[in-house]
Amino acid sequence: MSHKTDVVVIGAGPVGLFAVFELGMLKMKCHVIDTLDFVGGQCSALYPEKPIYDIPAHPSISAQELIEKLEEQIKPFNTTYHLGQQVVSVHKNDDQSFDVVTSKNTKINAKAIIIAAGCGAFGPNRPPLENIEQFEGASVIYSIRDKSKLDGKDIIIAGGGDSAVDWAITLAETARSITIVHRRPKFRCAPESSSRLHQLAEEKKITIATPYQLGKLHGNNGILNSIDVVDFEGGIKNIKCDVLLPFFGLSMDLGPILDWNLNIEKKHISVASDSMKTSADGIYAIGDVATYQGKLKLILTGFSESALASHSIYSLVYPNQPLHFEYSTTKGIKSDEKV
Ligand code: FAD
Repeated sequence: MSHKTDVVVIGAGPVGLFAVFELGMLKMKCHVIDTLDFVGGQCSALYPEKPIYDIPAHPSISAQELIEKLEEQIKPFNTTYHLGQQVVSVHKNDDQSFDVVTSKNTKINAKAIIIAAGCGAFGPNRPPLENIEQFEGASVIYSIRDKSKLDGKDIIIAGGGDSAVDWAITLAETARSITIVHRRPKFRCAPESSSRLHQLAEEKKITIATPYQLGKLHGNNGILNSIDVVDFEGGIKNIKCDVLLPFFGLSMDLGPILDWNLNIEKKHISVASDSMKTSADGIYAIGDVATYQGKLKLILTGFSESALASHSIYSLVYPNQPLHFEYSTTKGIKSDEKV
């Protein structure tokens, strides 16, 4: 499939979605590509139900609700999404436009590219356990999109960081049992989360199994019924379990983007902080993937970067039309036919 547009946005995380809005307000068309088969990036994949407290004008908003609000905000611009496909190559043509090609061989011609690829195409770090793939999906779950599906289950959470501890605390009220398995006695999480975890353990709402590691998975037909956990002397404890939630962080892979001859600093793309331009003309980077002096990896920073990149790209899409700055209150939201 071949398409032609003004701008290709790589990444449908919160920052890529807001770029659609900023581009739309400046009457630029765009296509959005994401490896995941849903929009929302880290917010939807990793912590949809967690409240975020530092989105301006939202004292608290769940990560998924933020994504839904962004989708609503960009609806007038009728954007085309290409989900479930990774951008694999970019070719610059003689007329300075780009051909972007995805893993599904979708080809999109555009005048500029915005890379909003976060930490890259991401996936969970899988624990190296025999046969784990047999249980993935039904019993081994790496990201929780609907926590009500875990009500009344016997759950083992593996890991010692914020995600493991936060989910143990969150699910303690609704699960039949929660065991948190960690190889060290101390958890690497916010001190208040650690205190809450230990308090719930005292109230017998959570079992803390430390220092233990995951051992053997037991079950049939893709459904777990128990897991052996192993201590460092080789002692084995068998724990009843319907669901295993391994939280060992993410493997982030910028993949092919690293080969596009952009200036890369510690796996992030260096940009000019006043325009979000990368070292390659016509290619911009925003959000978690972009770096410059003083960069704060926050959603609100990425929103501002979306505006900067879009204003900078305007002259590539409309070379003969000067951009007159206007507030949204002045121009309103117009879903121009061209957009
Ligand atoms: P992402 O959300 O990472 O989205 C990038 C998207 O690009 C992904 O969907 C990925 O699949 C896609 N992609 C990557 N490479 C390719 C490719 N080659 N082709 C196609 N698609 C590709 N931030 C806050 O501001 N406040 C908070 O309270 C907060 N809490 C957090 C809590 C947790 C548990 C976590 C993990 C993060 C938190 N963050 C918070 C950070 C915030 O989620 C990120 O800053 C934000 O998601 C970055 O948005 P992004 O759009 O730049 O990237």
